[in-house]
Amino acid sequence: RLVPAALLAGLVVALAILMLARRQLSMEAALRSALRRDEFFLCYQPIVRLQTGEWVGAEALLRWRRADGTLVGPDLFIPVAEQSKLITRITERVLRLVAHDACHFLTVHPDFHIALNLSADDLHSCAIVDRLCVMIRDCGAQPANLIVEITERGFLNLSSAREVIGSLRDKGIEVAIDDFGTGYSSLSYLESLDLDFLKIDRSFIEAIGTGAPISLVVGHIIAMARSMGLRMIAEGIESEAQAAFLRERGVEYAQGFLFGRPMSFAELVQRFKEREHAALVQQARAG
Ligand code: C2E
Ligand code: MG
Ligand code: MG
Ligand code: MG
Repeated sequence: RLVPAALLAGLVVALAILMLARRQLSMEAALRSALRRDEFFLCYQPIVRLQTGEWVGAEALLRWRRADGTLVGPDLFIPVAEQSKLITRITERVLRLVAHDACHFLTVHPDFHIALNLSADDLHSCAIVDRLCVMIRDCGAQPANLIVEITERGFLNLSSAREVIGSLRDKGIEVAIDDFGTGYSSLSYLESLDLDFLKIDRSFIEAIGTGAPISLVVGHIIAMARSMGLRMIAEGIESEAQAAFLRERGVEYAQGFLFGRPMSFAELVQRFKEREHAALVQQARAG
């Protein structure tokens, strides 16, 4: 009886693996056709200065609208793109979309930042640095307009990541470590990289004020970032209490539904202008 049971279990596992592989393959094929048919677009989520609420930038977040109209989020398709080596082509598409959406705005607002997400494969050579520089030049924007976000997975090939990061910063492009605390973070390699920003992952922000053991970690992350000279962007702020907690502890920047959900670039510009206008009116009243 034991042998058939083991055999059966083995069969079930093999079948599951096969089904997963098929799903991955069909997703991969769908991504290829999405690239051909131009089904990707970007949403932009405001990044605010916590002390003033001012919008200092926006993170570009990729979306895929399939031919049947369904919207697919990056958490579903970026991992497949990364495994299938389609990611560098997708990143190229992201750069074109950013250039298309934001060039004009950046030339008029030289202090505004666009943050982009890169994957590990994008960091294999400095070609990405040249590509970003060409984009910036064609745009008439400045390197300081860009922030590149890299998750800890991007540091697996540490020596090449270090070279690319160094080269980005030499050109004046700032670099952020994304989703900090969720990956393979080893403090020793973090110290060996020359970064500008640390993005505190939403999982730690969620814990603020809950009294859960993990809620204590935020304070430690803030202290560590400060001791390493990293500026901080807190991710996933949903409540005023979370914002106040971070503000009191000197975290400079934040992102989250409390300030704005990811939106089209047109909407971002519209709301940015409304805020500028409101600030001017207030200044005029005060003065
Ligand atoms: P991320 O870079 O950490 O982006 C932040 C994610 O948190 C976004 O999810 C955003 O919509 C979500 N978020 C922001 N504020 C809040 C909040 O207050 N509450 C909650 N519950 N969620 C919030 P999204 O857009 O689904 O992106 C997921 C991930 O996909 C990103 O995480 C990033 O790692 C990856 N991704 C997105 N766009 C790209 C891209 O162009 N290239 C690459 N390589 N990865 C991308
Ligand atoms: Mg990001
Ligand atoms: Mg993040
Ligand atoms: Mg994240």
